[in-house]
This record gives sequence, C-alpha cells and structure tokens, in this order.
Amino acid sequence: MIKNHTLCEDHSIRSTQTRQKYDAVSIELREKMIVVKCKGSEAAMSKLAVHVAEQIEAVPVLKAHEFILTTTEDEELDVNKAIKSIKDFLKLANRENDFAVTAMNQDISITLLSGETLKCNDASNDGFFVCQHCGRMSFFEADHKDHEKMHYIGGA
Ligand SMILES: [Zn+2]
Repeated sequence: MIKNHTLCEDHSIRSTQTRQKYDAVSIELREKMIVVKCKGSEAAMSKLAVHVAEQIEAVPVLKAHEFILTTTEDEELDVNKAIKSIKDFLKLANRENDFAVTAMNQDISITLLSGETLKCNDASNDGFFVCQHCGRMSFFEADHKDHEKMHYIGGA
C-alpha cells in the first residue's frame, strides 16, 4: 500500500513537470515569431519588412496583407523594438501621424487612419536610394536628400 502510494505521487510530480516543460516550449516558439498586419500599407510592405527585419535581426516572410518576422537565433524577438522600427519607417516616409501602430501580444497591426495608402513609388528602379558618399541605403527620396545634405554641411 505504502509503496503504491509513493509511486503514484512520484508519477504525478513527473507529469506536472512534463506539462510545465511543454508550456515553456510553446511560449518560446511564440516569441520567435511576430506577425505584422499592414492595412493600407501593402504597397510598401516588402520594404517595411526588410527595414524592420534588419533592425531586429529577424527573417521576414511576406504574405498578401501581412508579413511575419521569425528568427533562427536562440534569442527572442523584441516586439517593442519592432514597433519602434515600424514607427521610424513611417517617420522616414513623413506619414507617422497617418497610421496607428498597435500590438496584441506578438501581433502588430499597422492601420491607416488618414490620407492615402503608404507607397514607396518615389524610389529608384531597384527600390533604394544609395548615398554616393557613404553607401547608406534609403527607401525614400526625401530621406535620401536630407541625408546627402548632411555630407555637404559637415564637409565629410
Ligand atoms: Zn551618406
């Protein structure tokens, strides 16, 4: 009787531990993936995905109306860093006030509030403006010109 009871207890402890281990694994997987929903910014989505992925060191996967950021590293993806990077991108396009960037756990939504949808159609053929002086790449002409001015003013 006593022996049976001990075995039973032992088993229940072990199954609890196993359950906790599985919970930890599923949380870990979730944090290695960020979904970014792009309403009204689909036309600029591939560039946005590249921009954000570069900043948070993730791999972008493009879908029709959203892109997914994943990582092959052991480190988790930082949602706050991704949001900041998206806001920086909108700022470069001078559209930061026209979009709402909201997050629910690992899902980020970019929603058009006012004005036209976000496009990158002022970019050169290959999609980038490259600084003649330092090789800096930019998605937007205005940002590119601002940057080049810095070289002239600074004399660098
Ligand atoms: Zn430069």
